[in-house]
Amino acid sequence: MSDLQRIIDTSKRIAFFGGAGVSTESGIPDFRGTGGLYEAEYDGLTAEMILSHSFFCLHPDAFFSFYKKYMVHPKARPNAAHAKLAELEKSGRLAAVVTQNIDGLHRAAGNRLLYELHGSVHENRCIECGRPYPLEYVMRADGVPKCADCGGIVRPDVTLYGEAPDHLVMTGACREIARADTLIVAGTSLTVEPAASCIAYFSGKNLVVINREETSADGKAKLVLHGNVAQILGEIVTPPPLAQQKRGFGPFWRGD
Ligand code: NAD
Repeated sequence: MSDLQRIIDTSKRIAFFGGAGVSTESGIPDFRGTGGLYEAEYDGLTAEMILSHSFFCLHPDAFFSFYKKYMVHPKARPNAAHAKLAELEKSGRLAAVVTQNIDGLHRAAGNRLLYELHGSVHENRCIECGRPYPLEYVMRADGVPKCADCGGIVRPDVTLYGEAPDHLVMTGACREIARADTLIVAGTSLTVEPAASCIAYFSGKNLVVINREETSADGKAKLVLHGNVAQILGEIVTPPPLAQQKRGFGPFWRGD
């Protein structure tokens, strides 16, 4: 923990790359962790099959009943990890949060420098006319949600298996990771591509991995913490904003 605190205290541009493990403490199950959604079968199908582009097109009814039951958690609130990242952004240390999560909890916590690689359950639109809809519209619908204007299916703006993430979001995320002096990778199995490969753009000083289980990035990391990301980040003391530090110790300080 003291090594992590020192890295954060001495970093000027931190990027955070996270996954489903960041939100398990908020009551949202991950996919591949213990008790994750991948441990179960749903009428002989796996979660990965149901959350695929082809399944959505062929069986929208079954897709939406699974999606609403397992992927949307309207009562979930940001946990200590989300709160600390919002604090680090305010302090000017954290340049970007890159997340594979679709739950919207980083935004709810206050992070604005945010790259949601797989979209968000809060963004929905008609596949025919493009009209946007809030999450409540999708959740209230009986079965498949339909557009009030044209009758087209209203689908979540989330990346399904077999679909490519938004390329502008991917490019922005990779750019932030490439510019960072510290990258914290947390709560992810690093198995979903192309998202996981974003971290290959990092060439800064400190790669930190925080995860319950081993990951493929552990061998390259300067610091690996196997534990609970909410607890670990929650214990970090947010350093003072960089601008304030400069004024106190910089060569041009005039005491104003
Ligand atoms: P994953 O399920 O493949 O892996 C999660 C990893 O986090 C596991 O290695 C697990 O051991 C670890 N973990 C779980 N809880 C933790 C905690 N409290 N502290 C530290 N580590 C913890 O998740 P992934 O790599 O993000 O890939 C899954 C895909 O599924 C993503 O694309 C994501 O879009 C989607 N997903 C999203 C959510 C969400 O939005 N909250 C939830 C489930 C799945």
